[in-house]
Amino acid sequence: MPVTNPLPTIDHNLCTGCRRCVEICPTQALAQIAEKAVLLHPELCTYCVACQDVCPENAIALPFMIVFGPAAPNLPPDPTESE
Ligand code: SF4
Ligand code: SF4
Repeated sequence: MPVTNPLPTIDHNLCTGCRRCVEICPTQALAQIAEKAVLLHPELCTYCVACQDVCPENAIALPFMIVFGPAAPNLPPDPTESE
């Protein structure tokens, strides 16, 4: 099943509550509650990756969204596929 609407996840065991992610988020999707960052407004997240990049504790992970496009032309046949 394809991944739909991937969102940042925050590991609260790693988060120190430094607020860097909250302050850099361009859409105010993040907030700080009880000294931990939370994705309070997931509908506002544009998946810009800024929060992940700025976090000094590597507490934020953004799952990659894999989009399958059309098959590339001129590739050799897949030997694992049967005729
Ligand atoms: S930048 Fe990282 S450590 Fe700082 S508040 Fe955000 S998630 Fe927590
Ligand atoms: S990926 Fe960008 S928009 Fe989404 S929560 Fe992080 S900083 Fe905000």
